[in-house]
Amino acid sequence: MKVEVSRRRFLQGSVALSIVAASSTASMNTTGKEKSKIVSNFGITKTTSKAKEIATLCEMCVNKCAAIARVEDGVITKLDPNPMFPKSKNMLCPRGNAGIQAIYDADRLKYPLIRDGKKGSGKFKRVSWDEAYEYIKEKMTEILDEEKDNRSTFLFCAGEGMAEHTFKTFYQAFGSSNWLNHASLCLQTVVSGYGVTLGKYPAADLENAKYVIMAGANRAEAIVTPDTMDFFKRTQKRGAKLICVDPRFTNTAAKADQWLAINPGTDLAFVLALTYVVLEDELYSEKYVSENFNGFDEYKNMVLRNSYTPEWAEKITGISANNIRTIAREFMINAPHAIYYPGRRSTFSKNDFQLRRAMAIFQGLGGGVDVKGGLVFGKTLKLKGHEALEPLYERAESRAVDKKSNRKKGESGYSDCAIISGGGSWISWRNRFIEDRMPYKVRGMFIYKHNPVLNMPNPKKTIEMLEKMDLVISIDTMPSDTVMYSDVVLPECTYLERTDPVKTFGGTQPSIAQRNKVIEPLYESKPVMEILKGLTQKISKPIFEITKKYDEDVKEEIADSSEKEVYDEFDLTKPFMLSQEELNEHAVHDYEGAAEALKKDGVFYPDLKKYYKRLSLNEYQYYTDNKKSYSINEGRPLTPSKKVECNLENLATKGIDPMPIWKDEYNFSVPEGKFRMITGRHAQFTQSGTANNVMLRDLISENYLWINKRVAKQRGIKFDDIVEVSSSIGSVILKAYPTEKVGPKVIFFVHGFGGNSESLTWAYKQGANDNAVIEDTVEPVYGSAAMHETNVEVRRV
Ligand code: SF4
Repeated sequence: MKVEVSRRRFLQGSVALSIVAASSTASMNTTGKEKSKIVSNFGITKTTSKAKEIATLCEMCVNKCAAIARVEDGVITKLDPNPMFPKSKNMLCPRGNAGIQAIYDADRLKYPLIRDGKKGSGKFKRVSWDEAYEYIKEKMTEILDEEKDNRSTFLFCAGEGMAEHTFKTFYQAFGSSNWLNHASLCLQTVVSGYGVTLGKYPAADLENAKYVIMAGANRAEAIVTPDTMDFFKRTQKRGAKLICVDPRFTNTAAKADQWLAINPGTDLAFVLALTYVVLEDELYSEKYVSENFNGFDEYKNMVLRNSYTPEWAEKITGISANNIRTIAREFMINAPHAIYYPGRRSTFSKNDFQLRRAMAIFQGLGGGVDVKGGLVFGKTLKLKGHEALEPLYERAESRAVDKKSNRKKGESGYSDCAIISGGGSWISWRNRFIEDRMPYKVRGMFIYKHNPVLNMPNPKKTIEMLEKMDLVISIDTMPSDTVMYSDVVLPECTYLERTDPVKTFGGTQPSIAQRNKVIEPLYESKPVMEILKGLTQKISKPIFEITKKYDEDVKEEIADSSEKEVYDEFDLTKPFMLSQEELNEHAVHDYEGAAEALKKDGVFYPDLKKYYKRLSLNEYQYYTDNKKSYSINEGRPLTPSKKVECNLENLATKGIDPMPIWKDEYNFSVPEGKFRMITGRHAQFTQSGTANNVMLRDLISENYLWINKRVAKQRGIKFDDIVEVSSSIGSVILKAYPTEKVGPKVIFFVHGFGGNSESLTWAYKQGANDNAVIEDTVEPVYGSAAMHETNVEVRRV
């Protein structure tokens, strides 16, 4: 990024520790020699008698483990695990340890910026906060005036994080109807599939399970959290059996008792065949089913009538009928202490929603719902809400969707997908926008902690969307690929420089935890709370003037009362008047001593003092076993009917199959000479968000193409050869890794690499971006991105 900043001002912004000074050099076209100097400098850990320890929460991935930050002379020198948090059990993974680099990354966004060149050129000029706010105000009032106060002319989108709530507060007060978050690129189908079938997306009590099927969930590699460690260290050690179902021989497969190499996208056929065996042989829990199932007979008849036999599934999945029979029997022998692991991955194929329904029903057949050793819902400690501002703007249009008119019964209601969830369908929304299929003009966009250019299929289309927007405002910590296409960039401070909204963590051992500010924000960065406070102070009144001009309701209300009274309901500054610390104190007001404990220890639950103790070198007790919330609903689901819902007729009215069935269209064919592209995650990186972290890049610096060894040999491709992977939407270049760990018709490379932002010293053009070749296939129920529906070609370059 070419920022107009004098050398002198730049140095004023830096702090004294050597790692920071060394890293600062990196932003100025770092040489290879300088890079290695930076790496070696991370070995420095000062220890002085003045060291302070502050309890906080990690943000290097979604798990939010508790950490203790050591601060010396105003500098964070060490992050350690905080043993008091039941969710993280005294663990801080390598990625969590590398969080220190998030603060001292010289590439981070330091000052407010306004674009000073073509979008994507990376040319920005440094401005003051007031200048940035003023610029937004000018453009925003112009747009809203032209669009006659249609607040929905601004799209708001956000990535996952504890402060997403704060940003959403702004969206609600602003009055737009267009909100998109990461859900349709992430967990939408799994959360909804389990939600409608069992009443809630459950947790898995892996600690007490005896038998676990992990299908498409790569816990040993994709997300190494304390639960993962516990499972492989303790649960397996005491004899629990793990079946891994995955097209790749992953680290999870390596640790499993059995690995079944399934054809990608055919898990639904596998689960239906397991179900067939259980129904035909009557292996299910008759008591549980008769008391807790709705639509069981219809489901049973459907599965048996369709002959979803293991032999049928073998042809589709590639898993032998014998194996399917054995696993079905073993699962039910161990039920209810058997888990078909729900997983927490994105949508891979078009049938993902129905797959999750079938998995939830299969789990229910063994009675392993709301029970120790099975799937659990757990308890949640309630937080006090605070008043939200959600004014009604008469001119604000409803969410920009493409609703079908004259739709017949049983047909989907929308052109893109059957149901529009709160988080929306990112791909569908983007594609409609660039194809001019919006019901009204959307011209502006706020992006918070989100990198849609890298994180969703077909980046060319995302870039087209950003180029077409009149005003793009990004709030972020790093100069991501998306930031490069923004008009205004507002630098958020990193997670160790801010207090975030207090959060309640449900589960068998519920608790509340708080991310406390460890050091003051570096440079001119601010927490999103303060960014929005400053912004709303600048824009609130000017944009209310536009509302006054076009909103007939507001005009009438002013005539009936006074402008001051009416403005009071539209005052955007209101949600940001209190500090985050004050809001947090209010949220836990009902729990005696909680506010103080959260500041001091970062963690609170009512009986902590009574139960928390160290049991051995690295084992802690949080609740005694009889106080853990394994069962909160007497073993029943949490659906309104309190039953496992097999046959949901209301889905049929929306054009969705009421029961999970296999359809011919799910058969994916790979033409001769091509490969099905699959992707996944790696424990060292959180999507593209940590791609520039030099500590992590030291562990894995680029992604490799997994290609079957024999196929590679036939094509003359050797390890480290440069290859091109291309699909109908684009191509990428990366290095080859011929291996027997993937089948002959499948290729794989991990997500999170291949960024094009020149401002990211370490991430720039390292490896390949999977989304640059993944076609934008929309899953039909929620419009999620179906990531494994692309055929690609591979050639040696
Ligand atoms: S699993 Fe690792 S990266 Fe994720 S929150 Fe915990 S320590 Fe941080």
